[in-house]
Amino acid sequence: SLEPDPINHDHLAKWRGYYAPNRPNNYKRVLVTGGAGFIGSHLVDRLMEEGNEVIVIDSLFTGKKSNILKWLNHPKFEFVRHDVTLPYQAEVDQIYHLACPASPVHYKYNAIKTVKTNVLGTLNMLGLAKRVGARFLLASTSEVYGDPQVHPQSEEYWGNVNPCGLRSCYDEGKRVAETLTMDYARQHGVEVRIVRIFNTYGPRMVENDGRVVSNFVTQALEGKPLTLYGDGKQTRSFCYVSDLVDGMIRMMNSEHTGPFNLGNPDEFTVESLAHIVREMVNPNLEIVHMAATPDDPTRRQPDITKAKNLLNWQPKIRLRDGLSLMIEEFRERSNLS
Ligand code: NAD
Ligand code: UDP
Ligand code: UDP
Repeated sequence: SLEPDPINHDHLAKWRGYYAPNRPNNYKRVLVTGGAGFIGSHLVDRLMEEGNEVIVIDSLFTGKKSNILKWLNHPKFEFVRHDVTLPYQAEVDQIYHLACPASPVHYKYNAIKTVKTNVLGTLNMLGLAKRVGARFLLASTSEVYGDPQVHPQSEEYWGNVNPCGLRSCYDEGKRVAETLTMDYARQHGVEVRIVRIFNTYGPRMVENDGRVVSNFVTQALEGKPLTLYGDGKQTRSFCYVSDLVDGMIRMMNSEHTGPFNLGNPDEFTVESLAHIVREMVNPNLEIVHMAATPDDPTRRQPDITKAKNLLNWQPKIRLRDGLSLMIEEFRERSNLS
């Protein structure tokens, strides 16, 4: 018949048995790709504070060692400078796969490399997960919905994405990463989790990385005009990083595959964000209008019903509170440099 043979998953190594028969069972060994980046380093903080053993692999393309400085000499922590487009071996229980530039400026800088990172990088980490029987979580993105025609976006929506545009290396790259992840689950029995992350902000974002919150905060602190692209009526929904990390950890340790949206459903126009930042930092700042960026999604707001009901998760930090924590850290950093 044309029915495929039932798949035998006995090959999945359980590395605790094969590689470390005497290892204590009271903590996990966790691999975080992209762990020196913005979200990754906050995730590493949480995982370390919970007593896990953590390996970070990061090429330092956009990440910084200073983000994980406080763990560098910790006996349960290991940093490896490595590019995920090349194979990598380690024995771990869980993999959080975040390695990929996330800001449009960074992912467009070398678009082909962005595609490779999403395709080859995700393939390698899934191969690793398969070899050692680790659970794998993909950090996907709301960009898989493209310029959405359904609002707010729920996980059932398949998206409206341009395969040939300037953002495609990222959007389509992440879509293939999701496909690979689901196929490793179906074909090889790897335990997988997918989260679609919506715009996230907070301390340790790279100043001037082109993303709107970091741009506005940096410009405001430097007394420069805030740059509004297009008419400013496009919307985004901004999630504070600690809320997001909490959702990722819940997802990893849940029994759900997803994909689940993770984000803060409070929706703001970009113009109103500019007004809030201006009011919080310096009410005299100018706001200048600049050309809209190509393929810029006009509306974005997560439907988080699934994460709410199945992970018992929802964001706690409101935009102004999160912004004030971020502004404080940006101020400290600019004093240091
Ligand atoms: P970031 O740029 O700060 O972090 C990405 C990290 O990956 C960096 O440390 C970078 O050096 C590393 N990296 C990039 N390419 C690599 C490669 N080939 N090999 C090894 N390391 C590599 O960005 P972030 O905001 O922390 O994003 C982390 C993840 O979350 C990304 O996968 C991104 O797509 C996803 N995400 C972020 C947001 C957001 O709003 N910040 C939204 C949706 C999805
Ligand atoms: N891989 C890796 N680390 C591992 C196991 C595999 O980087 O511990 C890579 C491997 O080099 C390959 C990819 O993951 O490029 C997919 O591996 P898989 O075993 O699924 O496929 P195959 O090697 O059979 O093509
Ligand atoms: N944006 C802006 N000024 C800036 C940077 C961005 O008006 O200095 C706009 C951008 O055009 C988009 C929104 O803010 O409509 C969010 O952009 P960002 O790059 O932060 O994230 P993404 O487009 O990936 O959601």
